Amino acid sequence: MTTTNPSVSLVGAGPGDPELLTLRALHRLQDAEVLLTDDLVDPRVLALANPAARVLRVGKRGGCVSTEQRFIHELMIREARSGAKVVRLKGGDPFVFGRGGEEVDALRAAGIEVEVVNGLTSGLAAPTSIGVPVTDRRFTPGVALVTGHNGDGGQSPDWAALAQSRLTLVVYMGVARCQDIVDALRAGGMRADMPAAVIAAAHTPRQRHALTTLAALPGTVKREGLASPAILVIGAVVALAALDQLLDEAVPQRRSC
Ligand code: SAH
Repeated sequence: MTTTNPSVSLVGAGPGDPELLTLRALHRLQDAEVLLTDDLVDPRVLALANPAARVLRVGKRGGCVSTEQRFIHELMIREARSGAKVVRLKGGDPFVFGRGGEEVDALRAAGIEVEVVNGLTSGLAAPTSIGVPVTDRRFTPGVALVTGHNGDGGQSPDWAALAQSRLTLVVYMGVARCQDIVDALRAGGMRADMPAAVIAAAHTPRQRHALTTLAALPGTVKREGLASPAILVIGAVVALAALDQLLDEAVPQRRSC
């Protein structure tokens, strides 16, 4: 008879590159017997999991059907009750726009123990990958991580308040609604030439980015064909990335100095 209580580890897979996993995440992956994974998880991360683990892909790209979320809960509960070591792997951090909170609630309500292992969220990793220090105190009092997607029963950010906040804005799921977001920030009084960046597929071999301004952001996204998954960064700190890029072009050997 097994005496261990049924449990599930909710593990953050980070933005892509497996070197950005925490050691704890790696250990849970190596010990997993059942692995429920999202679409956004990088295949190189999955490759580090126990080769004997049963991998269940439960992603729902762009979807927002709540029965599917319920199905994921039921699957996790069933597998955990069977005594398997269950790992629920999520892109970035499980608690940053990853529905981790809902999954924890559902598991606890079913009497299942839950461990949450942080991952590096894309909203912090993507700006860093292009040289944007999101809370540089010379430019901003802080950073706001917000959703650009207002469907699915969630709450929309107060764009007018954010426009006045001087915070660096890091927008998840924002590329498709980029024009509406820019309009709302402009209506809230943010200046048209506020530096802005789009970073797509950060920390993957497909990473691309563009530096622009608030007013030019929607045009840039379209022209460059930058699509989901992507992070928008809006704020004065983005100018530091532009500076970095200019210096790189002017003094190519400076990185090796
Ligand atoms: N829990 C995840 C976010 C899930 S919401 C995290 O902490 O990163 C999904 C959104 O995350 C995408 O629409 C995109 O805005 C962002 N995202 C996830 N991975 C990304 C990546 N590698 N590069 C850029 N954006 C990413």
